[in-house]
Amino acid sequence: MTHTLIVINIGQLVALSSGPVPRTGGAMGELGIVEDAALVAVDGEITWIGSNDDVEWAGANDILDVRGMCVVPGFVDPHTHLIWAGSREREFEMKLQGATYMEIMEAGGGIHSTVKATREAPEENMVISAMARLDHMLAAGTTTVEAKSGYGLSAEAEVKSLRALREVDKRHPSTIVPTFLGAHAVPEEFKEKGADAYIDNVIEEQLPAVVGEEDGPLAKWCDAFIEEGVFTVDQGERLFEAAKERGLGIRLHADEFVDSGAAALGAKVGAASADHLAASSDDGLEAMAAAGVTATLLPGTPFVLRSKDYARARDMIDKGMAVALATDLNPNCLIDSMPFVMTLACLQMGMTPAEALTASTINAAQCLGLDEQVGSLQVGKRADLVVLDAPNHVHLAYSLNRDVVRTVVKDGHIM
Ligand SMILES: [Zn+2]
Repeated sequence: MTHTLIVINIGQLVALSSGPVPRTGGAMGELGIVEDAALVAVDGEITWIGSNDDVEWAGANDILDVRGMCVVPGFVDPHTHLIWAGSREREFEMKLQGATYMEIMEAGGGIHSTVKATREAPEENMVISAMARLDHMLAAGTTTVEAKSGYGLSAEAEVKSLRALREVDKRHPSTIVPTFLGAHAVPEEFKEKGADAYIDNVIEEQLPAVVGEEDGPLAKWCDAFIEEGVFTVDQGERLFEAAKERGLGIRLHADEFVDSGAAALGAKVGAASADHLAASSDDGLEAMAAAGVTATLLPGTPFVLRSKDYARARDMIDKGMAVALATDLNPNCLIDSMPFVMTLACLQMGMTPAEALTASTINAAQCLGLDEQVGSLQVGKRADLVVLDAPNHVHLAYSLNRDVVRTVVKDGHIM
């Protein structure tokens, strides 16, 4: 039996359907708005978009009357650390009382506490907690989520995290794009041996386990945290070349706090995306622009760190780079709402609401290799869309704390 959904009385439909992908420069502000529109989806795929007066009603299973409100593509969140065990709210209080990173570590907190909890957690518990996080994300309009491992830091625990993500993708309506992030931090048992020895372990033990899984590779992408004091550009390059040989695409955490040449590394290894970039040099950004590497910006991270050092989004757009936005959801940055990220992108990085929406939909989809399926509203794509409780898209960024997402449709079904 086919399932047909008709969405009628769309005051403003943000299609984002024309022009080259990803959107760069001035094209990031062109949304392809259709007024007084309707949309038809059959079995989860958009089959018709046109004038509200011309819509065919016959055979509809569901009719969604949006009463003149705005409809935008479902949001694509291209950088999250969705899967972890344990909880770190105590650290939030410690930080506000002035505790340093080292003091928090000495009190048993920080990333190593999450690694410990993740290694101990049963896979099913991880599935359940990740699904609860995804419920919130879906309610806020996010229909596609990139999700990294990286709190296991051993072959066994990384594989467990990625298996849990595969199970989450099966059970939850949201689409999950899995990324292997074994090179997230040097685990405590490698403190003495050092980062080089740990990268050897990632390449020789973790990577083969991740791609050699019986039912096919557990990850589509390989990521690494290239930052002073974590992993060097040389260590990253060694890992990325090994990952490419095993068929994984590359994305990376680059220059979040210090410019260590990670943006240029992204260009050199042909990464789909380099993320953070708050400290990247002009040379690094220009190398990315020339190589067509998307800049995925995470304004929630400096926000929770109470930092003023945001990525230079305006410079990047003016340099002709493709910019995407993401939450960076992780136990240290509990942001799951793309509209909140759009607000931060506008107020803290000077992006326009239209650019922020492009960065949260089609450009985010493109940097995950999914722009043929999602990220815009056009015939042949998945019927993933968000109905706003607002007449136009600007309210997504403009509304600071009110939830402007009224209804979410995923694969043609009203959530
Ligand atoms: Zn991250």
